[in-house]
Amino acid sequence: MMEKMKAAVITGKKKAEILEIKKPQPGKGEVLVNIKANALCTWEQRAFLGVIDMKLPFLGGHEISGVVEEIGEGIDEKEYKIGQKVAVRALYSCGSCYYCRQGEENLCIGKPGKDPNKEIWGPGGLGEYLVATPRELFKLPDDLPFEYGAFTEPLACVVNSVERSKIELGNDVVIIGAGIMGLLHVMVSKLKGARTIVSEPDENRRKLAKEIGADITFDPTKEDLIEKVKSLTEGRGADVVFNTTAIAAVAGQAIKATGKSGRVIMYSSIHPDKPIEVSPNWIHSTQVEIIGAVSPTIESFQTSSILLSKKLINPEKLISAKYPLEEAQKAFEHAVRPDSYRIIVTQE
Ligand SMILES: [Zn+2]
Ligand SMILES: [Zn+2]
Repeated sequence: MMEKMKAAVITGKKKAEILEIKKPQPGKGEVLVNIKANALCTWEQRAFLGVIDMKLPFLGGHEISGVVEEIGEGIDEKEYKIGQKVAVRALYSCGSCYYCRQGEENLCIGKPGKDPNKEIWGPGGLGEYLVATPRELFKLPDDLPFEYGAFTEPLACVVNSVERSKIELGNDVVIIGAGIMGLLHVMVSKLKGARTIVSEPDENRRKLAKEIGADITFDPTKEDLIEKVKSLTEGRGADVVFNTTAIAAVAGQAIKATGKSGRVIMYSSIHPDKPIEVSPNWIHSTQVEIIGAVSPTIESFQTSSILLSKKLINPEKLISAKYPLEEAQKAFEHAVRPDSYRIIVTQE
């Protein structure tokens, strides 16, 4: 008899339903993970709102923590003990394309084959179970709460971004936007020894940025971003600027706020994707580097799981609320509110 499991599936615009679907079985070289927490990322929120073109029904959830429930043939039972806490890297990478082979799994150009385990497409963190291979699993210590473990993926995205910025001790680092991703950038930049300057129009977000360690915050609707950054850096501009907002014009400002020899990181996706003007001669003469950062590599996933495991990053203040899987509809409705940070769907 086919075993079933519950899953919170997006079936229409602003509609997340609990469905009974096929429970996956671990095949050879696979591990069955019992999912305990899943944080709702912007991608799933956009799918819920219907603002991106998404094939429905869609089983989202890629910010996942859980425990090993069962192991398939060929998995070392000492390595993967039943009950071991893990984070799961659920976004596909093939492991053998040009980019995967040079450690840039986030740029993978491979295509997943049809997974017979999956009744409904999507990364699957909003189901009760999923199967993963060891390379997709990152061990977490017993004392790390599952809801913190669910931050492994978003934190890994930020680790990738911060590593690419090459922050040095004492650098002036500007973070534009103090949503969840901006705030994680503050935390990781502080660990790297930076002075962090946060531009954010919302007062509550600025307050939280301060609480989690930002050195300076300001309101870009009251003070000009570029002028403000220059005034804080003896007219030079910042050593590093991260744009975590989706606004093209702000990406343009981020470039202009960067000082000579600085690095500007285009962290967020931009909607709508309006081209911006950049002077190539200015890039030439300032040696400014304009850098992209998208999704996490396996290495940044590993670093992220270590930062959380060793309690070097504590995401507690970024959790706005927790909902059980059965209340996924409510969880999504809360997640899309502008005053929320991360909403966690729990199964404990
Ligand atoms: Zn995410
Ligand atoms: Zn690949």
